[in-house]
Amino acid sequence: MKYIYLGGAGEVGASCLLIQVAGRNILIDCGIRVNQRGHTAYPDLQRLKWHAHDLDAVFISHAHADHIGGLLTLQRSYPKTPIFMTGPTADLATVMLLSAHQLTNIHREVRHTIKEIPNDRYSAEDLSLRRDYLTAKFKSVLEELKKYTIIDTDAWIDLEWGDTWAFRFIPSGHILGAVSIELRTPEGNFLYTGDVSAFRQRIVDGIGDNLSGINPDFMWCESTYGNGDHPARKTEERRLVEAVTTIIQAGGKVLIPSFALGRAQEIIMILLSYMQSGIIPDFPILTDGLVNKICDVYEENICFTSQRFQHWAERSPNLFYTPPIRRVRERAREHFLRMDTPYCVIASSGMLVGGASVDYARALAGHPKNAIFLSGYQDAESPGAELQAMQQGDYLTLSNGDALQVNCNVEKFHLSAHSDQGQLIKMIKAANPKQIALAHGNARATQALHGKLFKDFPVTVAINCQLYDTTPKGVREATHRYIETGPPYSVS
Ligand SMILES: [Zn+2]
Ligand SMILES: [Zn+2]
Repeated sequence: MKYIYLGGAGEVGASCLLIQVAGRNILIDCGIRVNQRGHTAYPDLQRLKWHAHDLDAVFISHAHADHIGGLLTLQRSYPKTPIFMTGPTADLATVMLLSAHQLTNIHREVRHTIKEIPNDRYSAEDLSLRRDYLTAKFKSVLEELKKYTIIDTDAWIDLEWGDTWAFRFIPSGHILGAVSIELRTPEGNFLYTGDVSAFRQRIVDGIGDNLSGINPDFMWCESTYGNGDHPARKTEERRLVEAVTTIIQAGGKVLIPSFALGRAQEIIMILLSYMQSGIIPDFPILTDGLVNKICDVYEENICFTSQRFQHWAERSPNLFYTPPIRRVRERAREHFLRMDTPYCVIASSGMLVGGASVDYARALAGHPKNAIFLSGYQDAESPGAELQAMQQGDYLTLSNGDALQVNCNVEKFHLSAHSDQGQLIKMIKAANPKQIALAHGNARATQALHGKLFKDFPVTVAINCQLYDTTPKGVREATHRYIETGPPYSVS
């Protein structure tokens, strides 16, 4: 078996793993680097084309942009390859990909063009041609999104490549629809963890002992928090709730920039449950940005959430939008940005790279009675990371180059949806692989986890774009000749 990370090794972003086994090319995940634009945001799809002229199957672990953001581009290069994912992942991926910047613009343009009337610049015929072109473009994207093959968790699925081939999706906690992937092949049994959370969250259960006893011949494991242990979840939740309440009671406003998918829904539930149990008073909580659409998808997929959440949902007809939680429509945002009375707003994006959270940051950051509470992983290059390291009064550089003076409170809360070092080690030992490759983490995190594992397992800290060939003795690099020479041709 050979494997190569086209992205996602030594970083959190652009996850994309090619596995070559028994004459088949299998790709797992195709994400983007959310902090980057243009071709550098993508995995090395040119190199992928070089290594795999055809792909036999694509598996998607979950719908975070760092795992699916490159999917439409991939589909253009490999239009016939089946793409397997869970039902909730397909629903979430559709919303995530349609909301990607470029597609939103196409949609907007279609709407505007439809409203336009012929004028000096555009004849009726011009407009009608443009309308047809944009509508066709938008429809073709929708068609691509319908091509996914939905697979239930836990059952073994026959790939119809012969008796020895099968795969199964194993719930991995993390977010709605997320799975680890186990693959049976003529050359052995392989396990890709995807992103995992050991602990139970408000909406999804943890991975528990789902990987125990699998004994794979090879395991690809995430290592996002491979270099430390999380503070106790309950303590951190309480700290956040108390900090928000303090600011609100003093007449301020709070922005919680949040990943639209997963984190935002957890934060809504944390605040709501403290209110419902009477520990804190009710105050207005707003959600804005992509968060709103993702909440709708969660609502349509309640049967895939934890039993505990399903019980709560039965008694809560408005689910996330149980008062005092309300969603802000894009056209009403301006009103809330100017509003004087206190509120807490949960808005995407989580690293302040764009979206509604940036609008609220501009409105709130200047005043010392307000607060911005960061809630998760901040990429080293992101405005969120810069904000975290700043002193009061410093200027924050936003993605468009604007400078924003920050006089408000800034604090970081650890509400990660990833296992920490101790939890990863426990999970790996229970899975008991013969060999491991570590990826999906920065160098510090991955090296630290390597340091804890290498005495017990042959373990490789994977590097992007290196082809590894697994042998009985361990893992060795097959060749990296092409690193100097580059791929021989470009992707069309
Ligand atoms: Zn994820
Ligand atoms: Zn990820």
